[in-house]
Amino acid sequence: MRKFKTESKKLLDLMINSIYTNREIFLRELISNASDAVDKLYFKSLTDHDLKLEDEDLSIRVSYDKDARTITVSDNGIGMTAAELEKNLGTIAHSGSQEFKDETEKDATDAIDIIGQFGVGFYSAFMVAHSVRVISRAFGEDDAHVWESDGLEGYTIGDAERERHGTDIVLTLRENEEAVDGEPGEDYDRYLSEWALKDLVTRYSNYVHHPIQMMVTKSREKPKPDDAGDDYKPEYESYTELETVNSMTPIWKKRSSDVKPEDYNEFYKSTFHDFEDPARTISFHAEGTLEYDALLFIPGRAPFDLYSKDYEKGLALYSSNVMIMEKCADLVPDYFSFVRGVIDSADVSLNISRETLQHDRQLHAIANRVEKKITAELEDMRDNDRESFEAFFENFGRGLKYGIYSSYGMKAAGLADLLLFWSARDQKMVTLAEYAHAMPSEQKAIYYAAGDSRERLSKMPIVCGVLSRGFDVLLLTQDVDEFTFQAMRTYEAKDMLKVFEDDAAREAAQAAAADGAEPARENRNLELKNVASDDVDLETEEEKKDAAKATEGHKDLFETMKKALEGKVERVAASARATDAPAFITTEGPMSLEMEKVLSKGPE
Ligand code: ADP
Ligand code: MG
Repeated sequence: MRKFKTESKKLLDLMINSIYTNREIFLRELISNASDAVDKLYFKSLTDHDLKLEDEDLSIRVSYDKDARTITVSDNGIGMTAAELEKNLGTIAHSGSQEFKDETEKDATDAIDIIGQFGVGFYSAFMVAHSVRVISRAFGEDDAHVWESDGLEGYTIGDAERERHGTDIVLTLRENEEAVDGEPGEDYDRYLSEWALKDLVTRYSNYVHHPIQMMVTKSREKPKPDDAGDDYKPEYESYTELETVNSMTPIWKKRSSDVKPEDYNEFYKSTFHDFEDPARTISFHAEGTLEYDALLFIPGRAPFDLYSKDYEKGLALYSSNVMIMEKCADLVPDYFSFVRGVIDSADVSLNISRETLQHDRQLHAIANRVEKKITAELEDMRDNDRESFEAFFENFGRGLKYGIYSSYGMKAAGLADLLLFWSARDQKMVTLAEYAHAMPSEQKAIYYAAGDSRERLSKMPIVCGVLSRGFDVLLLTQDVDEFTFQAMRTYEAKDMLKVFEDDAAREAAQAAAADGAEPARENRNLELKNVASDDVDLETEEEKKDAAKATEGHKDLFETMKKALEGKVERVAASARATDAPAFITTEGPMSLEMEKVLSKGPE
């Protein structure tokens, strides 16, 4: 008996004690693994020309035995060697196993959340089975092996027989549970029927792109006997036949009006291993020089590894139903790396390689269109479903900001209007456009302060000083925020009420407006200014003059103060910028104190 690794054991315990109540997803997980195994073999056949695949290699079988209380999921995919059985099933195979280990040290109540983030995978079999047997023969090997476990202590690996390459997963179901305190117990027997299994396949795995087959009971008319008389009544008999149960028609090929939202959601969850419905589904069909179908999803929350090096962005790329690449990175920009989905185009060449992809003009055209669609969807969310948009931004806003920063502001035109920042005056998240349109006419720039917490920032004397002038201040608390603003330098506010420098022009416009004319509007480039910088330029000429006078008048005092703070400050002077605080600190040059702090932390 071999023991499970600690973190696997924790996950198993969660499965066995099943805090996760949606047990029926076990079949989806096993089918998805079978489908992956078939894909792997298929991909191998693309490069290995000696490998000839038969139809049955590319299908998945589901069967059950009522008397033995077993359910079996079989595939003739790539299979596993003994070492792979050990490695893949004895330890958590998920890429995030390390994180999982860290997570499980936290509160157990977060467990469902953790499972949600990782996808439940193979071990979900233990939600319905008391023992699991895996018989597998790796492609190209002569021997088969069996992995067996009752989930609790560990597992065994031994020799087995299997005619061809592939894997059978045999679950022996648990006994039905008795009712406790009027709560009905779990009914496991219900899975032991043709109808129930078919139902699970069509609900959770309908769009798996390989046929999922089952022996299905059917009825047919018995042949009419030769000696049948005139009063012969047809007789029926039942027989069984192997049938493909899932739809297989790719969901992205269907017209979106023909697809129920639940179907899109199930497809998303089973394909992209998420436990929550997507926030938005985008589907479109492009025609013209380049024809393709696209189905895109904006997830409801960030996958646990989104901001880690391991995260692989990209959309699945298909050419006429055949998957060419699981994650084609060139189809989505980095700042939309959270978007999942499928592009299917008959016009994309089947044997396109990763290298040629980058230079492929067709792909660029698709990527451009995809980017526009995502942007439009997010704008729609921002304008029509603010609550969801704020939740979205909480999850993915950091990536958008990083997109502006890392493109040196070049991408700002498309992204800046999707950003939200905390308004110190209104105490809520606002867009830059909302900030700009709420500005009093004498305000010339967008003001912000950067620091660790909103609370601390909103108490800073210079922030209060700006607020008391009637100008709002954006409070930036993410480390990437200020870098983003520095990359943008300005924000172009559209359709602002026109400001007239010239008195005569202003009066003429006011007269026209009084007559009911639409007020004149203009786009205005607003500077983004840190209130803590020395050249924020808020004071009136008079205030500046007064401050200069006061500085001159208390020259000795300021000299003494500067001496006392030797090496720490550059200059000590009087200022009109703080309202009720005796003193405050500003910085000179483009680098703020906050940015210095971020940079001195070094790369993460
Ligand atoms: P995931 O599918 O996310 O990798 P699972 O827990 O579902 O995680 O599966 C663990 C691993 O076991 C898979 O990555 C795969 O290597 C292996 N595996 C599971 N089922 C099969 C199968 N039917 N054929 C081949 N390998 C399999
Ligand atoms: Mg899996």
